[in-house]
Order: sequence, then C-alpha cells, then structure tokens
Amino acid sequence: MPEKPRVTVLAGGVGGSRFSMGVREALRRRGAPEATVVVNTGDDLWLSGVRLQPDIDSVLYALGGVNDTVRGWGRAGDTERVNEELQAWGAGWPWFTLGDLDLGTHLARTGWLREGLTVTDVVARLAGRWPLGIRMLPMTDSEVDTHVLLAGDVRMHFQEWWTRHRAALAPLGFENPGIAAARPAPGVEEAIREADVVLVAPSNPVVSIGPILAVPGIREALAAARGRVVGVSPVIGGAVVRGMADVCLTAIGVETSAAAVAAHYGPRRTGGILDAWLLAEEDAALAASVEAAGIRAVVAPLWMRDLELSAALADAALAAAGA
Ligand code: GDP
Ligand code: CA
Repeated sequence: MPEKPRVTVLAGGVGGSRFSMGVREALRRRGAPEATVVVNTGDDLWLSGVRLQPDIDSVLYALGGVNDTVRGWGRAGDTERVNEELQAWGAGWPWFTLGDLDLGTHLARTGWLREGLTVTDVVARLAGRWPLGIRMLPMTDSEVDTHVLLAGDVRMHFQEWWTRHRAALAPLGFENPGIAAARPAPGVEEAIREADVVLVAPSNPVVSIGPILAVPGIREALAAARGRVVGVSPVIGGAVVRGMADVCLTAIGVETSAAAVAAHYGPRRTGGILDAWLLAEEDAALAASVEAAGIRAVVAPLWMRDLELSAALADAALAAAGA
C-alpha cells in the first residue's frame, strides 16, 4: 500500500462520523491525505416541509467541528425557538426536535433541491462551508428512506420507530422503497474501485451500512475494488457501543456478536464485502471463527472515546489493509 493511501470510508451517522474523524487525523499525520466518505442516506426524511439527512449532517457537523459533542447530535450551541413554534402549531413530530441552526441547514438543502440540484450537488455545497478535509458523497441521489415493517402489516418510517419508539416495537424487517432502481451517486463507484483501501466504519450494519450496500452497483464496486476492504466491528463484547443496533441485527437474524456481523458482511472472495475485520480486544476469542469464515481477523482497541483513540483505530484499519 502507498505511504499516502487514497482511502474511501462507508459510513452512517454517529459511529461513522467518529470513525471519519479518526481517518482524517490518521491521514493528516501521514501528510496530504486523500479520502472520501460515502454516507448513508437511508435515514433521510421529509418533515415540516424540509428534507432532513441525519447521517449526512452528523458527518458534516463532526468533520466541520460544529457538532454538539455533549448531546451527541446536532449543532453545538443550538436553540429550539422554531421548534417550539412548530410544536405550538402542531406541525411536525412532537418527539423529533429540530434545532434552529439545524433548521438552517435543512432549509438551505431543501431550497437547493427545489431549485433542481442533485443530492450530490447539495452535499458538496454544504461541505463547502467548513474545511472538512475529506470529500463527502451521499450513497445515492435517489430518495430511499428506510421503512420498518411491524406486526399487523404496519409500516413505519425508520425515524419514527427509532426516535419515538426507541426501537421498542419488534421489527420484522427493514425496507428502502425504490432502492432497486437507485444508482450510486456520481463518484461513489470510482471512489470504491480506485481506493487503495476501503474502510467500512463501525456503523449500524443494518440501517447504516445496509442501505449503502443495497444500492445496486455498490456491492459490485466493492467486489471490483483494487484495494483491500477492511471493516471495523460496531459490536464490542457482545453489545453495541451506543444506540440500539442490536434490535436491528436481531430483526435480520444476526446475533449481536463481532463474529456474526463479520459473517453477515461475508468474505469478499465468496461474494461478500470484507477482506479483513477489526475486532475488539474483548472479542479476541472470536478471531478464529472470523478467520474460519474466510476473513482476516485483526484484534485492536475499538473504543473511539476521543480523537486520539479514533485515529489509532483508523491506523490499525489502514495497517490491516496493507498487510
Ligand atoms: P447512527 O447512524 O447515528 O446510528 O450511527 P452509525 O450507524 O454510524 O453508528 C452506530 C453504531 O456505531 C452503533 O451501533 C455502535 O455500535 C457503533 N459505535 C459507536 N461508538 C463506537 C465506538 O466507540 N467503537 C465502535 N467500535 N463502535 C462504535
Ligand atoms: Ca443513521
């Protein structure tokens, strides 16, 4: 692998942005980084007349250094005046808060979409405001919001299930209507195929990485990638680190274990996506079963508690690709 590798990351929101911060830092230390992050847009939704892209915004705000690190989402120092007005009108969802600064992003985005810009164009404009140091691409320009299928033929937008019900209603499955007709956004396939290394962030395998892989053409690009594909486990010691991804895994019949998630992604040489998989030290005993599944297992510290640890994790992933 070259000393200054071209890196492409596949990412969701919070786990994806922490990992992207680490990748940017690790590459900066190597000088002249060139990285692309392909972000999930399966979380997107229309609310109160504006288009929200939670994972895009999480990555944008984190890389731009304007995210609320205490709360874990949204803009630092945001207020909720407009949200209070919306609630008073009975508009939107009472359990879904839209910050004032955040609404500025949504209004700008929606205006540009209405003027005919593609999602890729809009993301490029948003990314132009702060020096991100990483090229950000949406996985697709198509609207492919995630729906959750529930008992009794009930279908619910993912955000309602996740935010309002805290994933407490047992899901039967997840769907991205229209995804079969979607195409990867311009530049995504090239970024994957031509990278020296592709990194799969420790994001939710079902509703963050899942929709990215479901865009027709992306699995093919991963299969044809000339660099190695290295994934990082979002499961440590049999539990997801933050959030409720375990409920999503259970719904698709995957055990909440680092080895089971690796097997779910599968080895690249038999139609899966991975060449190597990073497991936490807590999960070292699972390395043999990952290797038996045909994926190189690398044990490393996977906790992204601060930038230093995230950069060390990114370094370990880059090393796993070079070996
Ligand atoms: P979301 O879109 O905001 O839900 O975020 P992602 O899908 O990008 O990431 C959520 C996943 O990140 C969760 O399932 C966690 O297991 C994982 N995660 C969060 N923090 C860490 C961490 O410090 N280390 C690792 N390995 N995984 C993490
Ligand atoms: Ca997400």
